[in-house]
Amino acid sequence: MVRPTTRSVLALCAAGAVAATGVAVATNYDYGRDRSDALRAEISSRTPKNVILFVGDGMGDSEVTLARYYAKGAAGRLNMDRLPFRGSSIHYVLSPGPGPDYAPNYVGDSAPTATAWSTGKRTVDGRLSQGPSSALNVPGSNDGYRTFMEIARDRGKATGNVSTAEITDATPAGPSAHISQRACQGPNDARKTCPSETKESGGLGSIAEQQADQGFDVVLGGGRARYAQPLLAGGTTTVFDYARAKGYTQQPATADDLANVTSLRNGKVLGLFTNSNMTTEYAPLQARSKTWQDANPGFDPQKDAGSPETSCVQTNRPANEPSLSMMTSKAIQLLSRNRNGFVLQVEGASIDKRDHAADVCGQIGETVAMDDALGVALAYQRRNPDTLIIVTADHAHTSQMINAGQVPASLAAFATLKTVDGAPIRVMYGTATEEGASHGHTGAQVPVWAIGPQAANIQGTIDQTDIFGVLNGLRPARGHGWWTRPAYGK
Ligand code: MG
Ligand code: ZN
Repeated sequence: MVRPTTRSVLALCAAGAVAATGVAVATNYDYGRDRSDALRAEISSRTPKNVILFVGDGMGDSEVTLARYYAKGAAGRLNMDRLPFRGSSIHYVLSPGPGPDYAPNYVGDSAPTATAWSTGKRTVDGRLSQGPSSALNVPGSNDGYRTFMEIARDRGKATGNVSTAEITDATPAGPSAHISQRACQGPNDARKTCPSETKESGGLGSIAEQQADQGFDVVLGGGRARYAQPLLAGGTTTVFDYARAKGYTQQPATADDLANVTSLRNGKVLGLFTNSNMTTEYAPLQARSKTWQDANPGFDPQKDAGSPETSCVQTNRPANEPSLSMMTSKAIQLLSRNRNGFVLQVEGASIDKRDHAADVCGQIGETVAMDDALGVALAYQRRNPDTLIIVTADHAHTSQMINAGQVPASLAAFATLKTVDGAPIRVMYGTATEEGASHGHTGAQVPVWAIGPQAANIQGTIDQTDIFGVLNGLRPARGHGWWTRPAYGK
């Protein structure tokens, strides 16, 4: 008798994900049978031709599980659940200090965590692919902080950077910029916050300017306002103009524009579709504390706190903004024409942003949207098995599922939704310091999944910096791998 292999399982799920995203597909794992042969068949030590990295910002196991239960049901599975290899990624960052060794900071932000997989090295909060230093506002050294996307570009691979955030936000900036503070997104921002790193000061310039200089082939996301800033204080030449002169002659601004981009022969692609972050797929639904709910009787459960009968409104994104799936599909279409292969980073950014805001529907919708985009990539990987796909998160986040009858004390916000099972699920956000304030990141290790050549290297409990080696198609070298990991900051 022929047993279904992991490969056939993935083929089914990838095809299903593209054909009918949002429809729960029954899991195909052959539980109760030995999977050793199927897993062994998935192990390949070949160097991948293409690499696609998916980053769910703030997408810890809690966020993954919540999205799965809500959208696919208790017995359902997301696309990411179906990848053959899964590890856990340790993502602590560094505290500033005199060096050369730096103390760990167990709960970091998206900048040093993006630095970790981008460069294989750690740094301090707010910092992008640049070394640690004595204080957050004192620039470190860029020496040795070369990113996987720079390496891929210089190896002749096509390169792409896709995000639902401003493209100058920390996660897409990780592989594309070297700067001491993530706030320095456009030239005006850099003049204010990173004055010693502007081009006028002889530095590499703001994140937007550095991205134009990098020359990655396909850049898609939000953040038009950063690129609209003037290169010189008071000037009229913007970063958009600068990028055009650097070869970004295709600058789509709507979903239709993007659909009409068909080749890189006409120039590199800089597609920015909103002034700031892109619009979430699901309409917001705000978790609220018991204190707030008692003070606001008669609130609308479709906007605040939800109920056992509340479902998320899934039609929030305007049609002129492309979805993450559309951007991923277009990026793969354009980049895959390169004979040397390609490297692509795709970020589901607002999982984190809506988690900060205790917007439970916004958060779930962005998690599902990234999983749908993964479905697009898995369909490509099925036809092009020399492609490595890695899916991970930069750090963990606040949201927790609690018993649907539990009312958390004090200011912890909570919301209740009806899942596709028809059952209530309650989600709590408990790290804000006051009502309505931003909730914070958390420190639990995050998931990392992979399929394709070298995917087995993410198996087990790995360090976030180990992902750098896997992205480069390198077997972990002696002295870099986890088994010989040196002290902090090395
Ligand atoms: Mg991010
Ligand atoms: Zn965050």
